[in-house]
Amino acid sequence: MRRILVWAVFLGGTAMAFSLGRRVPIDEGEGGAAVSSEGGDMRGRVESSRLSEQVRLSRLRQIADPSTYLAGTLEATDSTLRRWGDRDGRPLRVYFEPGTPVGYLPEYGRAAQDAFARWTRVGGIPVQFTIVRTPDDAEVTVKWIRAFSVRRAGQADLVWRGDGRLQEATLTLATHSESGHQLPVEAVFTVALHEIGHLLGLGHSDEPRDVMYPTTSVHDLTARDRRTAMLLYALPPGSLKAASR
Ligand SMILES: [Zn+2]
Repeated sequence: MRRILVWAVFLGGTAMAFSLGRRVPIDEGEGGAAVSSEGGDMRGRVESSRLSEQVRLSRLRQIADPSTYLAGTLEATDSTLRRWGDRDGRPLRVYFEPGTPVGYLPEYGRAAQDAFARWTRVGGIPVQFTIVRTPDDAEVTVKWIRAFSVRRAGQADLVWRGDGRLQEATLTLATHSESGHQLPVEAVFTVALHEIGHLLGLGHSDEPRDVMYPTTSVHDLTARDRRTAMLLYALPPGSLKAASR
């Protein structure tokens, strides 16, 4: 079973505003070819049901520590940790689709690449990114559009397996607001930084100074953003729900 998660980024007034993304689970047979099943993989669920109660509670205690916002992420994902699996040093391949909208500036592309590079510099997480020139084997696709039809500046669409491991991601980034205003390059950088956080598996922070806060306007990751990503990647992906009896 593969599912898709959509996080949306919104613009609000003059400040960047991020809204809690819509979670759109699409089961086999419901989502069309783009999210069709490739045979399913329920191993994660089997493993999690065997997780001892002691281990499960220990992980939940780590997640509940307020030094990170992973608890909020778990609330938004039905108690499942979703992240990329072990990479053995292989960076995630990021492909920027050709074709850019009217009003696109080369600086936007550089800002998005800088945002990937910023996350790559975070030590302690095994996920790094490399920009590739062809779509072959790319795990992450970046698309540019002129504007969303609603108040939104970016969107992350994630596909994951039944065991919680992310499989592919698409970032859609806008160059203009829905009302037609050209976005500052710094805003595009912030949107990309925030959306890449989602593509790593992070949800929203409850702290306004974090880049993953729903209405953040900060232009860099905070220590708490980095700690949350490090904790997510220190724990195995999968469900932390209590086994049903
Ligand atoms: Zn968001």
